[in-house]
Amino acid sequence: MAEPVSSSMESQKLSSAAGKSPRTAPQRELDVVVVGAGFAGLYMLHRLRGMGFSVRVYELGTGIGGTWFWNRYPGARCDVESMEYSYQFSKELQQDWEWSERYATQPEILRYIDHVADRFDLRRDVQLETRVETATFDEATGRWEVELSRAGGSPERVSAQHVVLATGCLSVRNTPKFPGLDNFQGEKYHTGNWPHSGVDFTGKRVGIIGTGSSAVQSIPIIAEQSSHLTVFQRTPNYSIPARNGQLEAEEVKRVKADYDALRQRASQVGFGIDLAPRDRTAKEDTPEERKREFEERWKKGGFGFLGAYSDIVTDTVANEAAQEFVREKIHQVVKDPKIAELLSPKTVIGCKRLCLDTGYFETFNRDNVTLIDVSGSPIEEITAKGVKVDGREHELDCLVLATGFDAMTGSLLAIDTKGRGGRTLRQKWAEGPRSYLGIQSAGFPNLFIITGPQSPSVLTNMLPSIEQHVNWIADCIGHLRDHEVATIEADLEAEDQWVAHVNEVAGGTLLLTCNSWYLGANVPGKPRVFMPYLGFPPYVEKCNDVVAKGYEGFVLTKQSDLASAPSPQG
Ligand code: FAD
Ligand code: NAP
Repeated sequence: MAEPVSSSMESQKLSSAAGKSPRTAPQRELDVVVVGAGFAGLYMLHRLRGMGFSVRVYELGTGIGGTWFWNRYPGARCDVESMEYSYQFSKELQQDWEWSERYATQPEILRYIDHVADRFDLRRDVQLETRVETATFDEATGRWEVELSRAGGSPERVSAQHVVLATGCLSVRNTPKFPGLDNFQGEKYHTGNWPHSGVDFTGKRVGIIGTGSSAVQSIPIIAEQSSHLTVFQRTPNYSIPARNGQLEAEEVKRVKADYDALRQRASQVGFGIDLAPRDRTAKEDTPEERKREFEERWKKGGFGFLGAYSDIVTDTVANEAAQEFVREKIHQVVKDPKIAELLSPKTVIGCKRLCLDTGYFETFNRDNVTLIDVSGSPIEEITAKGVKVDGREHELDCLVLATGFDAMTGSLLAIDTKGRGGRTLRQKWAEGPRSYLGIQSAGFPNLFIITGPQSPSVLTNMLPSIEQHVNWIADCIGHLRDHEVATIEADLEAEDQWVAHVNEVAGGTLLLTCNSWYLGANVPGKPRVFMPYLGFPPYVEKCNDVVAKGYEGFVLTKQSDLASAPSPQG
């Protein structure tokens, strides 16, 4: 049986009872509530528990793993190399774990997460099938009241001094409101909530909507399995060959002999990935030299392509050279020139998140694959039998929505969070997210976000970004305890300055020139705000500097001063 896909933004609600529950004393008093049991929430638990805090992680899924629990579509794997897309907090773990491929598959990543949970005994403080519905700050006590709903169980209330939102940048699925979506009589799937039992497409006519990373990974495999695959493309995407393969024992040995060096190199790159970047602009090379450089990186595969020139996302000449190179490659691979042209992006490369693939463009040479361009005439309707475009019905047995996520803010705003004066986060962020360092938002004391908007997050290898945030937050909560501080809260002025800085940095790039999910442009009605911060090294420096200056830009309040504390929210 196919998993149901609702026709609106995925609510993933387990129960609506929590909001209506009568006010009773909390069932648990905790130091910290952590929301989400992906890479971020699990490491947060490990750090805080090690410091002696009482912590509980609430996760709405039936298992841990976050992204790697939900996204089980064919071909799902990381596109940052496994040796980098892994925790670095434990040198023993880093040495012991053996990745089998250059880019690990979803099952292997989930096995790794399970291993980490067992190795560090994390499961006993993770409560599954539990959604955090509301979080309300009590100004008198300086604590958060948190309401939970449980699948098939009664609602629960807990109280905590701190709440950490580890809810994921890409965890709320985007299901466009295609007219008639619920009428489709075949099997319907969203890549972001794939059935655990897998799907057998053998002999079936399959349609897939979307050509982002999830589609780019799954299309070649679905095409091999199905009798026919129809791809509905609104915008073509740039994709670089992944050149995946088994990891060579010698290579692994070399990395493990000095893992710190790899981590250190990566930490100095804007994207937080060891891209072997050159300190050279495209203009310093002739067109022939540029081609040679791109060719070399194309052959190696992976995101290293972006390391060819230091100005690739800031300068038109550099970017156009890279664009042109990839378009030529697409035309070389795809036999039908019309299809090749449809698959060739015309936008800035890197403006939408770059994809890595294994045989993506080659797939369009297959006889059983059809590409339907929906850029000019959008999908009219989903009928009982298939997808209607331009008056023509494409009959399907299965429909796959690879339509992405309400990124960066979706999971944060799904929780009804009330800060000072009862003001909600939804109200505060009505015109787009505002935070200080992506970690806190003024008016919401003791509420921390891991990889929140205005932090590097999705523009980086997420693992080091997650660890950097977790470490910062854990150290901060430890500092508050040691100095008997009841609350910490972003100062509004510091927040405004930080948001202005994030926008200024983005304004100096070419990343504002397309309709990306970084800008919220994939979700109709979402405010158009560039959400991540570009630049891992300066960001880390800023976070460290803030601490060195006594949590500059934050207001710290002692318990005895709680009632009289002026609100920093302005
Ligand atoms: P998540 O893994 O998203 O976990 C958040 C968890 O919070 C989820 O399990 C969710 O169910 C839970 N949750 C949310 N709201 C609530 C609530 N109200 N109550 C209870 N629980 C809640 N990044 C990279 O750097 N490299 C990659 O190669 C890469 N590949 C990716 C591939 C896919 C298919 C996707 C979708 C993303 C990929 N990412 C990649 C980004 C990826 O999301 C991060 O790397 C990382 O896994 C995020 O971990 P997290 O713990 O922050 O969030
Ligand atoms: P995505 O990049 O947002 O792609 C969604 C696709 O659906 C786009 O092609 C989009 O077209 C299309 N779409 C959305 N609404 C549509 C509509 N109404 N009609 C027609 N088409 C529509 O989502 P994703 O592929 O799931 O990837 C999201 C992010 O997750 C990635 O960018 C990446 O960060 C991460 N990820 C990583 C990997 C990996 O390789 N490790 C794999 C999957 C995901 P438009 O472009 O026109 O909006």
